[in-house]
Amino acid sequence: MATLHGRCHCGDLEWTVTSDTRALPGHTICHCRSCKLLGGGPFCGILLTSISAIRFEHGTPKVYTYYNSEGNGVHCTFCSICTTHAYHRDESRGDEVQVRTFPLLEAGIMGVDKEINVGERFSWVKKVDGAKSFKSWIPAVARGRHGRRLSRN
Ligand SMILES: [Zn+2]
Ligand SMILES: [Zn+2]
Repeated sequence: MATLHGRCHCGDLEWTVTSDTRALPGHTICHCRSCKLLGGGPFCGILLTSISAIRFEHGTPKVYTYYNSEGNGVHCTFCSICTTHAYHRDESRGDEVQVRTFPLLEAGIMGVDKEINVGERFSWVKKVDGAKSFKSWIPAVARGRHGRRLSRN
């Protein structure tokens, strides 16, 4: 198992993410508008995993909830001081969470597995060589070992 280390910009929030893979998992790059707004960049990096894989070692995060295009609440867990996001949870997906991978200390040495919501990619952002592309969200069968297959309610 690989352990990833998250630390927010101000340093108040520290967390770990335990990956179910022995090797370092890769980023899934998301080009959706919410990621651009919440992350302040042209895309963000996520890792699908179970909420039980995340542990806060320091600080107490805050939660912001928005409703996605399907009407599901998405709970965003972030640092209440500097606003760095640790993970998001779509309430229709059980205990699956989307860890925000760019705040992880290992982010720079992780590869890129997939790109999602590529229809919303900015025209000047190039496709990542070797990454699988998905027009919208990742189909359950394609999530592989980095995520859990959960039936939708
Ligand atoms: Zn912070
Ligand atoms: Zn997104």
